[in-house]
Amino acid sequence: MPNDVLTFKRGGVHPEDRKYLSSKKAIEILPTPKEVIVSLSQHLGAPAKALKAKGDKVVKGEKIGTASSFISAEVHSPVNGTIKAIKKVTLANSVSCDAYVIEVDQEAPEVDFVKTEWKNKTKEELLATIKDLGVVGMGGATFPAHVKFSIPKGKEAEYLVINGVECEPYLTSDHRTMLERAEGVVEGIMIIARVIGAKKIIVGIEVNKMDAIKHLREVIEASGYQIQVQPLKMKYPQGDEKQLLSATIKKEIPSGKLPLDIGAVVSNVGTCFAVYEACAKNKPLFERIVSVTGECIKEPKNVLAPIGTKIGELIDFCGGFTEEPDKIVSGGPMMGFSFYDLETPIQKGTSGVISIKIENIAPQTACISCGKCVQACPIGLMPTMLYRNINVGAYDMALNKYSLMDCKECGSCAFVCPAHIPLVHTFKFGKKMARRKK
Ligand code: SF4
Ligand code: SF4
Repeated sequence: MPNDVLTFKRGGVHPEDRKYLSSKKAIEILPTPKEVIVSLSQHLGAPAKALKAKGDKVVKGEKIGTASSFISAEVHSPVNGTIKAIKKVTLANSVSCDAYVIEVDQEAPEVDFVKTEWKNKTKEELLATIKDLGVVGMGGATFPAHVKFSIPKGKEAEYLVINGVECEPYLTSDHRTMLERAEGVVEGIMIIARVIGAKKIIVGIEVNKMDAIKHLREVIEASGYQIQVQPLKMKYPQGDEKQLLSATIKKEIPSGKLPLDIGAVVSNVGTCFAVYEACAKNKPLFERIVSVTGECIKEPKNVLAPIGTKIGELIDFCGGFTEEPDKIVSGGPMMGFSFYDLETPIQKGTSGVISIKIENIAPQTACISCGKCVQACPIGLMPTMLYRNINVGAYDMALNKYSLMDCKECGSCAFVCPAHIPLVHTFKFGKKMARRKK
């Protein structure tokens, strides 16, 4: 292990990572499905406005939805085909939105995307391409990338910090991206650095991915770019922007502020690759790598699949279930949402489809005031006091005295709680009630 390993200051937990299930498997390409379901809400913010109607023919990469407000993003067809219907779908995060059901034309010729030299483009042109080709944060947050990379007047992005942490258990899609697509990731990093005007670039990677650290360093050295690859200790939730910046640049984001307020922009490695494909290949974001894994999957894999693929098809591609899972999670098990059914499509932010058994479901007991949740909280909150106040309806107290809105819902407190209290569920409920009261 290298001796320059860093981590964030406060709290954090060490869940068993279980990445061995899929981390050694090279990315496999899913054969194009017969049908995809592409939602107009692929991103944080307002859903895109539909540009197509039932019966319209679409070509792979064609724009089918356009940003409907400042925080919104373009949506492109991941396949050649015909729009069979526009219907309401419920996504894993419980959001209900309009989606295109596209019947795939398997006979249509493959679409070629034209390579361009991104270095000849201005930063305004690069930013416009990132917007036009629908790039959003691929780490799960799906914040529209062009909004994040637009630095407002009076602000400065001194640091660009790249998130190669992937601290959620099971997920390995970023790990495989760094191993198999490193050249594209590095070009994407330099494109973002040019757009935001960053002076210092750091890639943070946890030490359970030493092969990715080594490979990325080799690719960076060969490229001649000035990028530091920083090994980080394994600790959850290091992939959160707050913790990643604390670990890499030793700066803390104050309550209610953003990374840019301390001179930093954070971007995930998958987003860097998407930026590269957009700016150097003119390829819109219409596919992604998904970790299809968990103890209940026969052959866990990382799969490159069109956005809109139903999770059932991904699971079939990985040999199906070994046994009935207790739940199938979108993203990682610490912060992810449960899928309702196998027809639910993947989105731009779906990093994983994790099928798991819940071992030893322990009954909830009363809080024993052990303080473990307080020690685990990376934000420095008092989860036990938040829980007590929300439980008796004292939402103002939870909000004003115990900073409820600073909670990232990371689940570290619930993970260590010996009383098995559903802390995160309570905090989500408390936030909803506090907003309603407001
Ligand atoms: S879920 Fe909220 S309160 Fe619990 S550890 Fe994470 S940030 Fe702290
Ligand atoms: S960890 Fe659980 S039992 Fe311990 S103080 Fe926190 S809420 Fe109470």
